Amino acid sequence: MTLSNGRPYLAIPGPSVMPDRVLAAMHRAAPNIYTGALVDLVDSMIPDLRSVAGTAGDVTIYIGNGHAAWEAANANIFSRGDTALVLATGRFGLGWAEAARGMGIDAQVLDFGRASPVDLARVAAALEADNAHKIKAVLATHVDTASTARNDIAALRACMDACNHPALLMVDCIASLGCDTFLMDDWGVDLMVAASQKGLMTPPGLSFVWFNDKARAVGKSADLRTPYWDWTSRSKPEQFYQYFHGTAPTHHLYGLREALNMIVHEEGLENVWARHATLARTVWAAADAWAADGAFRLNMADPAHRGHSVTSMRLTAPDGSRLRDWCEHTAGVTLGIGLGMAPPEDPAWHGYFRLAHMGHVNAHMVLGALAVMDAGLKALDIPHGSGAIEAATRLIASAAPERK
Ligand SMILES: *Cc1c(COP(=O)(O)O)cnc(C)c1O
Repeated sequence: MTLSNGRPYLAIPGPSVMPDRVLAAMHRAAPNIYTGALVDLVDSMIPDLRSVAGTAGDVTIYIGNGHAAWEAANANIFSRGDTALVLATGRFGLGWAEAARGMGIDAQVLDFGRASPVDLARVAAALEADNAHKIKAVLATHVDTASTARNDIAALRACMDACNHPALLMVDCIASLGCDTFLMDDWGVDLMVAASQKGLMTPPGLSFVWFNDKARAVGKSADLRTPYWDWTSRSKPEQFYQYFHGTAPTHHLYGLREALNMIVHEEGLENVWARHATLARTVWAAADAWAADGAFRLNMADPAHRGHSVTSMRLTAPDGSRLRDWCEHTAGVTLGIGLGMAPPEDPAWHGYFRLAHMGHVNAHMVLGALAVMDAGLKALDIPHGSGAIEAATRLIASAAPERK
């Protein structure tokens, strides 16, 4: 018997759950791509994209995934042989560094391991050792989707300023935008990248680069810039096709317009952040109860350093994979694999897994996923502390008392 028929819940950290309204908005005939409604729709989206990022700067939209946004950012800033300082707190910083090296950038990685945030003392030491100011930019990940470590980006900027280092601050918010508080201008971020399929609740296929005047000026001399990636006319198009350097991603744009309506104009960004914060604390409350007995642990020990959109967890291998299989095939909840925590051929790989609570998620979805995990631990005889669901429901009840 399976109990999985019904609406499935893909709780992997991207693609995230797409609202039916987003899908319905895409279900239409292709529009004219030269004039009319589509042109107005894109023009209307630019201010909303600025607001989700907290910037008055520019934004460009690429037809691509997060890897495309990394490459777009690199291409517009660096010349072959330039130096970047990459801060890795899990898998994704390493990925951005690999992308940079593949383009001929000298990416120097400071690796903080798989369960810690950036250590600013090490960043300061690296910047202070760079007397010649060869480091053109510091590349950081806001929330690393693999470790689920969250970095304090405002503190990183303060550290760079205290070192009097002129490097740009470039941040990957692919897992956090529209989930965790992020204020690009207030925090002194020069460039930020994100993609459509996570907090923005839209199918994979669009990515974004936001940048300020300083980044534009530094990037003017970048010799890695090629026509397709060049942000110059994409960010200030004289003709509509220049937004996309070709045919517009018509249906994705309708979906994104609807998602931005929901985030910016209906719920409101601060409420979206508060919802994610509460749902994350719900997950952690259940996790603390499970961890009271047996091998269950959260990857990030300190709640202050955990992202609000996804939580990385572990059991003794192979119980992580057993639990994922049970949840998916018996109960219709697909948990994420543990990414970058152990090599896939290492038996330890089967200990790690993740629960995403990103984007279009509410209390019933998160409580449902937690209850399914709790049932799975019992069905599989995996030792665990009791009271997880009681702890989760109490947290929801105290965060959301009766509306009077
Ligand atoms: C998902 C993700 C990426 C990669 O995005 P793709 O769309 O898979 O290329 C990069 N960085 C972070 C932090 C992510 O969460």
